[in-house]
Amino acid sequence: MLKSADCGSLREADVDTHQVLAGWIDRRRDHGGIIFVDLRDRSGLVQVVFNPALSPSAYKLAEGLRPEWVVQIKGQVQRRPPDTENPLMPTGTIEVVADEVEVQNQSLTPPFYIDENSGADEALRLRYRYLDLRRPSMLRNLRLRHNVVKYIRDFLSERDFIEIETPILIKSTPEGARDFLVPSRRQPGNFYALPQSPQQLKQLLMVSGVERYFQIARCFRDEDMRADRQPEFTQLDLEMSFVQEADILELTEELYTGLIASVSPGKRILTPFPRLSYDEAIDRYGSDKPDLRFDLPMTDVSELAGETEFRVFTATVSSGGIVKGFVAPGCGSFPQSEMRQLEDYAKEIGAAGLAHVRIRGSSELNGLTDEDVVLSSGLRMPLEWSIRLASKMGAKPGDAILLMAGKANGVNQWLSALRTHMSERLGLADENLLAFGFVTEFPLFEWNGDGNRWDSSHHPFTAPADGNEHLLDGPDLGNVKSKAYDLVCNGSELASGSIRIHNRGLQEKVFQILGYSREETEARFGQLLEAFEYGAPPHGGIAPGIDRLVAILAGTTSIRDVIAFPKTQSGNDLLFGSPAPVDQHQLKDLSLRIEG
Ligand code: ASP
Repeated sequence: MLKSADCGSLREADVDTHQVLAGWIDRRRDHGGIIFVDLRDRSGLVQVVFNPALSPSAYKLAEGLRPEWVVQIKGQVQRRPPDTENPLMPTGTIEVVADEVEVQNQSLTPPFYIDENSGADEALRLRYRYLDLRRPSMLRNLRLRHNVVKYIRDFLSERDFIEIETPILIKSTPEGARDFLVPSRRQPGNFYALPQSPQQLKQLLMVSGVERYFQIARCFRDEDMRADRQPEFTQLDLEMSFVQEADILELTEELYTGLIASVSPGKRILTPFPRLSYDEAIDRYGSDKPDLRFDLPMTDVSELAGETEFRVFTATVSSGGIVKGFVAPGCGSFPQSEMRQLEDYAKEIGAAGLAHVRIRGSSELNGLTDEDVVLSSGLRMPLEWSIRLASKMGAKPGDAILLMAGKANGVNQWLSALRTHMSERLGLADENLLAFGFVTEFPLFEWNGDGNRWDSSHHPFTAPADGNEHLLDGPDLGNVKSKAYDLVCNGSELASGSIRIHNRGLQEKVFQILGYSREETEARFGQLLEAFEYGAPPHGGIAPGIDRLVAILAGTTSIRDVIAFPKTQSGNDLLFGSPAPVDQHQLKDLSLRIEG
């Protein structure tokens, strides 16, 4: 090695030892006759002192050192003189007095300081990612990611799972997104697709008798990138045979519980993870990925609302819509201006409006007077009605009730956003808490109004819930429940999975409902259907996303911060400059011509 120690590891116990260090110049300070350099490697920083009286030649060279130059330094570790210690640096009680310095490489002036507080624009950071990754927080994220993946590998290996690689060049494997295609040179007009996930492959491995499979799998989905998505991302993909839903959920809970304790012991988690059915989650929180760090439960008050003279409510209810809301604790004293801000927020997210009832006044609902109950946003209700509303919703004097009206889907979405908004405003979420929960019994299908067809809520391989198979022949496919489940955490979906169909007839029926012709079914799924006829065991699995999990553990909101070389929001790689045109001869080899 070109070094005998890591910069950041030197301590008082090393005083008087001679060391060879190698790394990057973080900063150089000229203190009239003495030069100080902070030398950085991946372990951290150490201060190096160049004294012309002790080593004139090293001092001379040190005068020319610039940030990000790579140097090797030989010197002796010394205790820092009193009053010059830096308690903020782990190496702050010592320094290295340089005898020799050798410049191993120079550096151009970097486009931004390699510093946590450089505030550099993200596009610039991505363009010079190799410099950005020199920042300690980025290195910490990479190491955290390594620790997460290592824990997962060890955990599953101990439980007799086998890690198996599956191909990247494959055929279309629908998970609801567009495929990335790779043209075949040898078979003009034919294409490979990059896997959206190894779904069919892992199911085929179950037919093969593997019983317990996992893979740290790269998945590719050509989606219009919504906030914080990547066209390629990483999942822990796992599948088991001879299991039921509860087995997968238990394994997942055990994995996450052990993982967090091992890699992020400072985070708090609550076990057992609560389990909510999809219907409960929507009823109570308006979302299938509720933030469970706080409660703020919702109540459907359509019936009460329908009794009023308030046209918005009565018209909504009589046309099949709902009136629903939640109690904002302690917000009864919000002034009108603050309520107006909430209404503006509601309109921004697409809601028609926001009605509210503020309850000031006495300590119990029964003692309230007209003055205590402040109705607003067009609400003019008798006191008695407001008290019934408050007691149905569990509101107390001092609270505010926030209500929205409209079609169920919209109301749930808006209220869910408002719930998150209020929790931020009221500081309800404990930043240190990871509130995991399972959402189960998703609908098997959801109606796609634009395409005028049924889509799978999860994917087409998901089994209907027990006792729901006969509903596949019924009129309302929206009522069919499935054996799909999600793991959610702090308002994000971290994993999805399901117990699968393992029988050809049932699988064909589902494809038929989804609108696939016989030919399409055969072309896309023929291999799986055929395999099901050769003794497919009951099986199921789950696929936890790695990027989002590491981002949560790293305390960052962007998954780009935990991916070494991520793409931008628009799918560009700013470092390599992809996507990029290719040479004419490459296109020709592939029998491709670019139109337009
Ligand atoms: N393949 C699924 C997905 O990527 C996960 C699963 O069902 O295991 O969402």
